[in-house]
Amino acid sequence: MSCGSTTRPGPSPRVRGRPTFSDTLPPPPAPLPRFDVDIPPPDLSPWLAGNCGIPGVMHYQAARPGPHVVLTALIHGNEYAGAIALDRLLRESVRPRRGRLSLVFANLAAFAHFDRASPVASRFVDEDMNRLWCPQILSSARRSHELDRARAILPVIDSADILMDLHSMLWPGTPLMLAGGAESGRRLSALVGDPPLIVSDHGHRAGPRLIDFVRFSDPHSPGAACLLEAGAHWAPATVEATDHAIRALLRHTGLLPPRDEAPAPPPQPMPRHMMVTDIVTAQTPGFRFVRPFRGGETIRRRGTLLAQDGPDEIRTPYPDCMLVMPNLRPGRGQTAVRLAMRIPAPESSAVRRQPDQR
Ligand SMILES: [Zn+2]
Repeated sequence: MSCGSTTRPGPSPRVRGRPTFSDTLPPPPAPLPRFDVDIPPPDLSPWLAGNCGIPGVMHYQAARPGPHVVLTALIHGNEYAGAIALDRLLRESVRPRRGRLSLVFANLAAFAHFDRASPVASRFVDEDMNRLWCPQILSSARRSHELDRARAILPVIDSADILMDLHSMLWPGTPLMLAGGAESGRRLSALVGDPPLIVSDHGHRAGPRLIDFVRFSDPHSPGAACLLEAGAHWAPATVEATDHAIRALLRHTGLLPPRDEAPAPPPQPMPRHMMVTDIVTAQTPGFRFVRPFRGGETIRRRGTLLAQDGPDEIRTPYPDCMLVMPNLRPGRGQTAVRLAMRIPAPESSAVRRQPDQR
């Protein structure tokens, strides 16, 4: 797979249009919200050295064979809800009943710079660590903090059978699982089933994500990966959503015993599968949504005005169009929103529930 093959949907001229007379005035810019930091960063000092020769990687192996499940947190240094969930597993001394379990704290240097007075600033040190996952970039001579770190954890990634990458969101939105472009990612997301909103896509133009790595995107590779967007970056509910998804994954892959507490948890709704069809990129610094849309919001009517971008209007290209993680303040050239339509669920699960969970 080439580095650029994950970026099929381009900027979407078909949702652009010249303004009509009734919509000529762009809305005034909304004031930037204050992002509340309601959870403190975790103390990861017990895990910084790691236990397998790679700093920040904790690895456990069961006597019984089984899949290698990898959970990655802090690919973005300021998204530490996933790190809190991994820290909780480690403090509970959770061990796999079968197979192998690796818990990875990815961008510890960026995390170390977290400052609650400027919580958005510590996403990375030199570059976005979730835009460099292809063999050509990783084997190049180029250096950056994030590239060096990606190369350090590569042996773990390259041996993963199942990977869940733990993230959170800056702008308000419904939690979702990003399945990437591979069928295996969709099936893995459906197997976890929590959150029950699964979005398939073909990545970002700026570079391949960890879930786009050849290990997980090549149909002939044994790996499967998904990316959890569990909720707002610094909200307690995001930690709990991450914890639920992790435990569901570990139960369904047989690394943890099945849930046995009573009463049974309320049944999850059937997962809704969506496919990203359009990437809307801000072409001007004046890009403005007509209102503060929420991620996961579905716009019923085709042709509904979403945003004004200089002289262009951005409208929904089809009915029941879902907005994926709108960036309410995009800079010029940045993704402002992605649009998704509903697709059928995959017919079967390639990552099957393990038969001997008890
Ligand atoms: Zn992220």
